[in-house]
Amino acid sequence: MLTSLAEAAPRERPAYRSFRVRVARVERLARHFTSVTFAGDDLDEFGTAGLDQRVKVVLPLPGVGFAAFPEGDDWYGAWRELPAGLRNPFRTYTVRAVRPEAREVDIVFVGHGDAGPASAWAATAAPGDEVVLIGPDELSPGRTVGIDWRPGEVETLLLAGDETAAPAIASILESLPSDATGIALIEVPAHADRLGVRAPAGVEVRWLAREDADCLHGGLLIPAVRDWVVRHLAARGVARTADVDAATALAAAEQADLPDTPLWDVPEGHSLDGDCYAWLAGEASAITTLRRFLVREAGLDRRQVAFIGYWRMGRAELD
Ligand SMILES: Cc1cc2nc3c(=O)[nH]c(=O)nc-3n(C[C@H](O)[C@H](O)[C@H](O)COP(=O)(O)OP(=O)(O)OC[C@H]3O[C@@H](n4cnc5c(N)ncnc54)[C@H](O)[C@@H]3O)c2cc1C
Repeated sequence: MLTSLAEAAPRERPAYRSFRVRVARVERLARHFTSVTFAGDDLDEFGTAGLDQRVKVVLPLPGVGFAAFPEGDDWYGAWRELPAGLRNPFRTYTVRAVRPEAREVDIVFVGHGDAGPASAWAATAAPGDEVVLIGPDELSPGRTVGIDWRPGEVETLLLAGDETAAPAIASILESLPSDATGIALIEVPAHADRLGVRAPAGVEVRWLAREDADCLHGGLLIPAVRDWVVRHLAARGVARTADVDAATALAAAEQADLPDTPLWDVPEGHSLDGDCYAWLAGEASAITTLRRFLVREAGLDRRQVAFIGYWRMGRAELD
């Protein structure tokens, strides 16, 4: 009997899968940054594409651990069917380093108190603690899914983000060619939160410590991006006539009542033509303000701006 085509075709390996891992080491990198190294028998198959690749960290339920957590391709659908009390919390993070030969993965957690399960977990993480990572499968054709950094062939790079984007920015900077040019603006809570990052000589890395201004998230990042863009355009002989301050204030005001939608707009980048590419990630309201400034006032093409809301002030990550 002939087998149908559908039966004969091999099923494509999904881009993401679950990895059961344990904490191997915990390192306090800076006042608000903790690096956790996870080890697991099958982490030699964890995706190595790097950059800003995102993963889910699934946390244990008190008294239950992971007994109810569904594995398999449709883990999310099965998880949603569980009674609320049996749903393990999970949050989104960036892969900071992968060492397949050692079967290890590093993730850097921002500590922001115990309001959220992930921050609270990282504050007390210790060797032997168990989590599940939903991460890229190196053996899948979709192994680069979850990477939003797509600059194409542009002359100047602008990376801007708050502390939650610092691990992604650090990984992206390390991946750049030695002749890359641009700037990375990283807003962190305190001077003690500056991390050691390797960047090409032509890419300035500027840390902005909120403790200097006693301001909210975005309070230093927004004006720093605005100033850099205005100077960058002026240096290229592009006249600016817009009232930048007024436009930025307006955009910020518009954000007072953000809709309940994820903030995610990532261009492909392949059509960019040698100008500037901006990658913005961090607190949703600040990132939206920045994107509006870049697109509406500075005149960048939307396809030149990737913006990703990494978290939202006053709201837990939807799970
Ligand atoms: C693609 C992507 C990659 C990310 N990568 C990283 C990463 O590598 N490292 C990292 O630390 N975070 C990263 N984040 C952000 C992280 O997912 C959120 O900060 C998440 O809300 C943390 O979960 P939680 O359980 O600690 O807090 P939640 O339960 O989600 O939130 C509880 C409360 O804490 C607030 N909150 C959440 N995060 C912060 C914060 N950083 N500072 C102050 N208040 C906060 C919320 O507004 C809410 O009021 C990433 C997010 C995305 C979407």
